[in-house]
Amino acid sequence: MSPGAAPRFIGSTIYRGSSYGPRHPLRVPRVPTVMDLTRALGWLGPAQYLTSPRARPAALAAWHTPGYLAALERAEAQGRVSAEVRARHGLGTLSNPVYGEMFRRPATAAGASIMAGQLLRDPGVIHSPGGGTHHGLPDRANGFCYLNDPVLAILSLRAAGVRRVAYVDIDAHHCDGVEHAFARDTDVLMVSVHEERRWPFTGALEDRGAGTVWNLPVPRGFNDTEFQAVLEGLILPRLQDFAPEALVLQCGADALLEDPLSRLALSNNAHWAAVAALRPVARRLLVLGGGGYNPWSVGRCWTGVWAVLNGIEIPDRLPPQGAAVLRDLRWEGHSRGRNPPEVWFTTLRDPPRPGPVSDAVLTRLATLTQRALVWV
Ligand SMILES: [Zn+2]
Repeated sequence: MSPGAAPRFIGSTIYRGSSYGPRHPLRVPRVPTVMDLTRALGWLGPAQYLTSPRARPAALAAWHTPGYLAALERAEAQGRVSAEVRARHGLGTLSNPVYGEMFRRPATAAGASIMAGQLLRDPGVIHSPGGGTHHGLPDRANGFCYLNDPVLAILSLRAAGVRRVAYVDIDAHHCDGVEHAFARDTDVLMVSVHEERRWPFTGALEDRGAGTVWNLPVPRGFNDTEFQAVLEGLILPRLQDFAPEALVLQCGADALLEDPLSRLALSNNAHWAAVAALRPVARRLLVLGGGGYNPWSVGRCWTGVWAVLNGIEIPDRLPPQGAAVLRDLRWEGHSRGRNPPEVWFTTLRDPPRPGPVSDAVLTRLATLTQRALVWV
C-alpha cells in the first residue's frame, strides 16, 4: 500500500446469518449491514474490499493459550461444553454461548486484524468493522469476546516492524483485555473512554500501567460536547506526545444514545469527529468495530465511519437503495425494534446531541492533564 492509497475494507460473509442466539444482544446483524449499505451507496468497490482470512490456531497463539484455543475449536465442533470447560475458559455461558460459528467467526475477525497489521507494514488506512473484541483474555472468553483481535492486531503490527502503536477505545465498556495485554508496555499507548460503574468495572482513572495507560470513566448521559472536550483535552494531546507509528481505533457504537447496553448519550457525529481528528495522527490507521447492539444505530454509525475515512460527503437523506438496506433490518425481542423511527431508515447522521460538560468530566480531564505534565 502506498501512502496515498485508498482505504481498504476487510469484511467476510461469515457474519451473515450468524447469531449468538435469539436472546443474546449479538443476535442482530452488524457487519453485513455495513457491507450492504456501503455497496448500495456506491461507496465500496471491489478494489477496496478484502475478504478476511480465518486465523489459524498457531497465529492466534501469539496471545491466546493453546489449551484455550483447542477448547474453543472443540466447543464449536461438538456444539456443547463440559462444566469444567465452562468454568475454566468461560465458554457456554450466557455472555459467551455455544453457537454454530463460535470459533470460526472470532477467528475471522482475528484474521482480519492480523492481516491488517501485516498490510500496515506500509502506511495506509484499514476499516475492519468485525473487529474490536476488546474483552477477550488469553485463556478465556469474556464479555461476548472469544478472542482479542485488537491485541492480535497490535502484535501483528509489531511483527511487521512497527514499534510504537497507539490504541484508542471509545466503546462504552472498558477494554480490560487490551489493558491486560499492554499495561506494562511503554511502546503501546492506550486511551480508553468508557461509562463509569459499568461492567467490566475496570478502567479506573488512577490506572497508569507503565505510564502509557489513560482511562477516563465518564458518567451516564455523556454527550457530544463532552466527547469533543475529551477528544481535544485527552485523546489528541496524549497521541501528540506519544507520536505513534500506527494507531488502532476501537470504534464501538454502544455509547450512542439508542444503544440498549449503555446509558451514554452520544450521536454518531462524535464517532465521525473522532475518526476525522485521528486520521492525520499516524501514517497507519486501523479502525475496528466493537460494541453496538441496536442494529440501526450500529450500521449507520460504521457506514458513516467508512465515508469519513474516504472523504465521502454524507448525504442528508439516503437514496432509496440505501434506505432499503435499513428497512430490511429487524430487531426481534426489543421494544425499540417494534416501531423504529423513519429517520433510522432514511438518514445516516443523527441530530447532534450537545449539552453541558459535567463537573465529573472536567475534573477527571484536569487530573489526567496534570498527570501528563508531571510525567513528561
Ligand atoms: Zn461495549
